[in-house]
Amino acid sequence: MTTVAAYAAPAAKAPLERTTIERRPVGEFDVLIDIKFAGICHSDIHQVREGWGQAIFPMVPGHEIAGVVSEVGPGVTKFKAGDHVGVGCMVDSCRACDNCRAGLEQYCTRGAVMTYNGIGRDGEPTYGGYSQKIVVDENYVVRIPDSLPLDVAAPLLCAGITTYSPLKHWNAGPGKKVAVVGLGGLGHMAVKIAHALGAEVTVLSQSLRKKDDGLKLGADHYYATSDPKTFEELRGTFDLILSTVSAPMDFDALLSLLKTDGALVNVGAPEEPISLNLFSVIAGRKTLAGSSIGGIRETQEMLDFCAEHHIGAEIELIRAEQVNEAYERVLNSDVRYRFVIDTATI
Ligand SMILES: [Zn+2]
Ligand SMILES: [Zn+2]
Repeated sequence: MTTVAAYAAPAAKAPLERTTIERRPVGEFDVLIDIKFAGICHSDIHQVREGWGQAIFPMVPGHEIAGVVSEVGPGVTKFKAGDHVGVGCMVDSCRACDNCRAGLEQYCTRGAVMTYNGIGRDGEPTYGGYSQKIVVDENYVVRIPDSLPLDVAAPLLCAGITTYSPLKHWNAGPGKKVAVVGLGGLGHMAVKIAHALGAEVTVLSQSLRKKDDGLKLGADHYYATSDPKTFEELRGTFDLILSTVSAPMDFDALLSLLKTDGALVNVGAPEEPISLNLFSVIAGRKTLAGSSIGGIRETQEMLDFCAEHHIGAEIELIRAEQVNEAYERVLNSDVRYRFVIDTATI
């Protein structure tokens, strides 16, 4: 076992504090990673505050991990010491179900092992990226191309793949009109990626406060959802709407903006159930769908795509002791666009 410095929430809703955790010995197929940067995802806050149900404490959050391999087990073939690598939301899965075999490990029918707030195959709780080292099976590690700086690459491991996967699945590309709802951590990645895929991109944000940013990030149009005229003007416009917000939304109003056969895909996860008038999907043969991160193979594809298109996250680098303050700022939508912890400061 290796003792590693980390930041953890000792109990639900408690502030995070510096502590130490044990990492397992490097097994035959394991990779030991020196974590350099860890992004702060909104879902870290949901889980620390038990917004998604009972959680395991102490909790070391963090599933946007970028670092450098420092040691590999004797059976490892994909990585060697010195490689730049990333770890996202999961560190294992059953490897045998139809979804795992299809490269959709995030939908493992037996439940993938989450990077933190999960129970590993060894029966021990998993601890995430707000720490200095992590041991992960090589099959759940991805390569970060050398041309992508590790700090701006870290958020790609959740925010990047969470938006890339549905944009690809619903064919965002040339000739397609794509709307991104919300310009936060996920939304700003969705705009960059949809633009790079060749789609015509519209941001639908509560206000026009971040309009200049949105256009710089690659959006072609920018509308405020607080303005009722937006919904009149854009009725029946979009092939695909990607909603990245985790606050309650007017789904009927959003569905009215789709073309016939269009899809409204949710990647934000509100804590409460939603209400919906089913005529909103019946009229126009529309799809209301959801999507969760992406498989390991697709996560690698996303990283290679982002390197090719010079896409990283817009980040604000913080020291570990600023993490509680950063959480408050995320809750107030006061971040442009992702906090990333410099793990050397833990
Ligand atoms: Zn996340
Ligand atoms: Zn499985």
